Amino acid sequence: MSRATKIVATIGPASSSPDVLERMIAAGVDVVRLNFSHGKAQDHIDRAQLIRETADRLGKAVAIMADLQGPKIRVGRFKDGKVMLQPGHKFILDATCELGDENRCGLDYKDLPRDVRAGDRLLLNDGLIVLTVENVSGEQIHTTVTIGGELSNNKGINKQGGGLSAPALTAKDMEDIRTAMAFQADYLAVSFPKNATDMELARQLANVAGEPYNHKPALIAKIERVEAIPALPEILRASDGIMVARGDLAVEVGNAAVPALQKRMIRMAREMDRVVITATQMMESMIVNAVPTRAEVSDVANAVLDGTDAVMLSAETAAGKYPVETVEAMASICVAAENVEEVKLEHDFIDKKFTRIDQSIAMAALFTAHHLGCKAIAALTESGSTALWMSRHRVNVPIYALSRSETSVRRMALYRNVRPMLLSFSTTDRDALLNQAEARLIEKKAVASGDSYAITCGEPIGSAGGTNMLKVMRVPR
Ligand code: PGA
Ligand code: MN
Repeated sequence: MSRATKIVATIGPASSSPDVLERMIAAGVDVVRLNFSHGKAQDHIDRAQLIRETADRLGKAVAIMADLQGPKIRVGRFKDGKVMLQPGHKFILDATCELGDENRCGLDYKDLPRDVRAGDRLLLNDGLIVLTVENVSGEQIHTTVTIGGELSNNKGINKQGGGLSAPALTAKDMEDIRTAMAFQADYLAVSFPKNATDMELARQLANVAGEPYNHKPALIAKIERVEAIPALPEILRASDGIMVARGDLAVEVGNAAVPALQKRMIRMAREMDRVVITATQMMESMIVNAVPTRAEVSDVANAVLDGTDAVMLSAETAAGKYPVETVEAMASICVAAENVEEVKLEHDFIDKKFTRIDQSIAMAALFTAHHLGCKAIAALTESGSTALWMSRHRVNVPIYALSRSETSVRRMALYRNVRPMLLSFSTTDRDALLNQAEARLIEKKAVASGDSYAITCGEPIGSAGGTNMLKVMRVPR
């Protein structure tokens, strides 16, 4: 089953045993997400080690994505663990309250009273509960319950329409960046960035924390704030990719606006040579059921048709009853959707100009392989950028990215239609290297006797950004 769209799965209590994790990776997980909203540093370190060991044993390229908590605002704890909020009743969010009851509760973000005013709507527990602000006095926000329901300890709060002043990186995030760099997380996901500056700061912190390990992670901006929408171009420029973080985004912008935003974000990311992950509630019902709903099947398929690099699982694999089955189901939905996707390669290039040699060669390989009906495209790549450029366009030919850098191989695990593999070589002889690459492609069953393929490389051999050659080959019969 050849699949182009990648699967990101969140690891948690339901998937931390070596056996379940192994079966999930075997079923198709390409990127494992460590959610820093839960767990201690040591838990993440242990899980990262288990992920790397398991991936190595299975011979699969699997990336690790460390997802920072960010300034997620939460209510405090309740005397009885939870309360029932009745519509029409008054409720106070009180920054000084220690233990809540049916009249009031505490807040972990002490500045919230300064960020809201009368008339604002506060959405709790992913929008299941709505409070309307009546007035603010000192540290207390007086509200009326507009939509009631059960509110339990530490549930999230969003302000509809955005406008919270909390910075994207909290003190905890800065500490967590150090933890994530200690195990060289391949991707670092930043929650609630508002602009490019948030991403630039995160990159600086990550690069400094990664320096002792000679590691620089790729950065993913989670788009989940109203303010991030107009800033998308600058955020994309400052990041390696984005996540359509539909959970928080939907409460901030309203559910109905999300599908169109998803399509726009995916299109923009690909046009700017960035990667994009579509996330949250994709297979939600599989937390408790062994099969997805028809709506979930359509949602995953539509994200694939929109052109996403990856679809993501959260609670489904972190805390659900069927982590392995969910991955299997998601993988087969992706494959079925990819099969009906139209290829309009020429269309992508109308009015496009290329000034870089490496990028022009990458596009030439794509065209050649597509028109000749090659079995595979192969890219010998140091940094992975050749494979990234190729993967921004839809073709029915799989891209095999061969790199001697383990970091590049793992990073490329997220790129749509890219099958990364390690190729350790020390030769500087071009023909010897091409022979080695072909042997590897045959070994991986990418090509067989009689098949043609297009391959790119750079001369002199082995310099990043040096791709300057395209060759069309046929495996001898
Ligand atoms: P979260 O991010 O799961 O960390 O909140 C994703 C989202 O908001 O959709
Ligand atoms: Mn979120």
